[in-house]
Amino acid sequence: EAKRSGGARFVRFESAMRERAARRTDIETDLRQALQSDQLFVVYQPVVGLGAAGGTDRSAGVEALVRWRHPVRGIVPPFEFIGVAEESGLIGPLGDFVLEQACRDFMRWQHELGALAPRLLAVNLSRAQLGHREWVDTVARILADTGMDAQRLQLEVTESLAAQDTDVQQRLHELKALGITLALDDFGTGYSSLASLHLLPVDTVKIDRSFVSQSETSHHHRVLIEATVKVAQSLGMNTVAEGIETAEQANVVRTLQCDKAQGYLYARPLPREDLAAWLMQPDGA
Ligand code: C2E
Ligand code: MG
Ligand code: MG
Ligand code: MG
Repeated sequence: EAKRSGGARFVRFESAMRERAARRTDIETDLRQALQSDQLFVVYQPVVGLGAAGGTDRSAGVEALVRWRHPVRGIVPPFEFIGVAEESGLIGPLGDFVLEQACRDFMRWQHELGALAPRLLAVNLSRAQLGHREWVDTVARILADTGMDAQRLQLEVTESLAAQDTDVQQRLHELKALGITLALDDFGTGYSSLASLHLLPVDTVKIDRSFVSQSETSHHHRVLIEATVKVAQSLGMNTVAEGIETAEQANVVRTLQCDKAQGYLYARPLPREDLAAWLMQPDGA
């Protein structure tokens, strides 16, 4: 009896696996198509500066986030296709597309908005993009083509990536040599540790949303944010609190001396023109 139900469970498991594999193959095929037919686009979420006085600086920066408008499925979120892109090698062309588009949009804000334009552009990076030695040349080429100042570009990496083999380390140092800065994304998840922060060539630490979302109710999480900020400060790094959704969370991270914040409280990720409109609104609106 137990054996039979175990068998049935296995068949269910197997068919779920097959369904998943089929869906992955579909996504890969469609993504290949998407890259050639303008289905991918980039949206931007503001990263605001948190002044001690209580104001928020809207022009501190933006993070570029990729979106896919699928002809049948509609908008597909990144978590459904970034992994597939990484495993299939499509992350190369996808990443180059996002970087180039984001640099172009960033330069356009500079021309259209002057002092109101964002000062920093953050772009997410996958491990697979650092696999190729020539990729650093591609980045330099994109900067030259778009007129983007390397100092204004920040590439976001996760800790597992930043702590990788010497090859990856080498690549990160080459990027830094171009003048690009690095941010450690999603800090506090996975195996991130304060003790090894000084080993990583990063300029900014982004404190994961999971800490921020519990900061109002959990003393423990507030203490962890505070410790992260202190260690980062002592290493000359600045900090960004991710996923701020309430005014109370904003107050907490401001009090704990985070330099910047990002989250739905300020704005959702927006298309280029909507971001320009958001930047032109006065602070507090
Ligand atoms: P991430 O880099 O940590 O980006 C932040 C994610 O949190 C975004 O999700 C953003 O929309 C979401 N977020 C921001 N504020 C809030 C908030 O207040 N509440 C909640 N619940 N969520 C908030 P998104 O755009 O779905 O991206 C998910 C992840 O996909 C990103 O996490 C990043 O790891 C990856 N990703 C996105 N675009 C790219 C890309 O161009 N290249 C690569 N390699 N990865 C990307
Ligand atoms: Mg990020
Ligand atoms: Mg993040
Ligand atoms: Mg995150």
